[in-house]
Amino acid sequence: MNNDIKRSMELDKRYIWHPFTQMQGWLEAEQMVIDSGDGFYLIDTDGNRYIDGISSLWCNVHGHRVKKIDDAIKDQLGKIAHSTLLGLGQSASAVLAEKLIEIAPDNLKKVFYSDSGATSVEIALKIAYQYYHNIGKPRKKFIALGDSYHGDTIGAVSVGGMELFHSIYKPMLFETLFAPSPNLYRFDGTSRQCAEFTLGKIKQLLKDNTGNIAAVIAEPLVQGAAGIIVHPKGFLKNLRELTKKYDTLLIVDEVATGFGKTGKMFACEVESVQPDIMCVAKGITGGYLPLAATLTTQELFDGFLGEVDECKTFYHGHTYTGNALACAAAIASLELFDENKIIASLPKKIKLLEEYLEKIAVLPFVGNVRNAGMMAGVEIVKDKGTKQSFENKYQVGAKLCAIMRDNGAMMRPLSDVIVIMPPVAIDIETLRKLLDIVYETLQNELPELTRII
Ligand code: PLP
Repeated sequence: MNNDIKRSMELDKRYIWHPFTQMQGWLEAEQMVIDSGDGFYLIDTDGNRYIDGISSLWCNVHGHRVKKIDDAIKDQLGKIAHSTLLGLGQSASAVLAEKLIEIAPDNLKKVFYSDSGATSVEIALKIAYQYYHNIGKPRKKFIALGDSYHGDTIGAVSVGGMELFHSIYKPMLFETLFAPSPNLYRFDGTSRQCAEFTLGKIKQLLKDNTGNIAAVIAEPLVQGAAGIIVHPKGFLKNLRELTKKYDTLLIVDEVATGFGKTGKMFACEVESVQPDIMCVAKGITGGYLPLAATLTTQELFDGFLGEVDECKTFYHGHTYTGNALACAAAIASLELFDENKIIASLPKKIKLLEEYLEKIAVLPFVGNVRNAGMMAGVEIVKDKGTKQSFENKYQVGAKLCAIMRDNGAMMRPLSDVIVIMPPVAIDIETLRKLLDIVYETLQNELPELTRII
């Protein structure tokens, strides 16, 4: 290890507080530091290569150091890195907005930029809330799904339903009405009954709160952070119909699912759903730079028009809203989707992934496998019959992912769910290599691990 690398690790431990990380364990142990990337591989400071099995936390699309995106950022640097969108236009953000509207569901016509998934959700909630205020029919509440995750800011946490992450903050949050997540593996009944159970609860909440629900918010098709909980087929479409029938807005949070992950450009497309508001982030720049967007209908946008003293303005914005470098990266990423026919290439990759999932499903301690396109989860349980989980203290998922890392795949679990979510542009050979590492680790190491604990 050269001195620069040694020093950067020392500085990291001295100064950095890592997200979603128990820092006690971090400070005690030797840690891996990623130094560079090469296509679908990450390279650590010792030169070891790992397939990026979780697309750098679900955002990388075309791989790392992609020439077209690198060049687009460099070209934009030659013009300007950033100028504000507050009362001022900026060309890269305008060009990107047109491209986003072209690929988004047809009814979405306007783009409000921000810089993370969480902020795109905050904006969606505030737009829904203020829209009803502006049209003189104020509504105060939101409906969300249990176990949902929409980011870590207070509004996003208020509509989030993950006990482990969110319960501590309850006194700080606004009240949200929750319906149980349609989690088929943990539901005693058929897929249809599972969907109907949740939809029935939402219907009841809508009826009980007529005229007071600003929006229903949901992750479309799959609840990622909850452990890749894949919704029953038709759930999203039925949710859309329900929100229309009971005259409320539907916000879809496509932060994780957007940009090819479910096999289509957006999850909404899979069930031909047109939401009122759509949040996108993560993959929007190909996984290069922080950028997010909240897309809305013309009707919502029009609800904010008026003279200044009518106070209908949307008073929300962030300093780096619509950052030009990030927009340039996003434009290049969307062009690569076309040039490399990424969406058309997905069925073959999804088929391979599903073939491996079938093999994995029959292994000991694998309770459930599930996927929505390229987003897959393998749930490890203590008892396949009762579906009982291992106690959290054993950290089975984390231990398995550490072994997979040693075997050349960069993985990160969600509790005991092993997440497989490579960049969607990954080539078949590299995908097969990744899946071999996952399969072999689960086949050979999991029984051994359970013997020790
Ligand atoms: N919404 C969903 C569905 C997510 O999966 C995430 C992050 O995983 C977020 C929002 C938050 O995004 P960010 O981490 O960019 O704030």
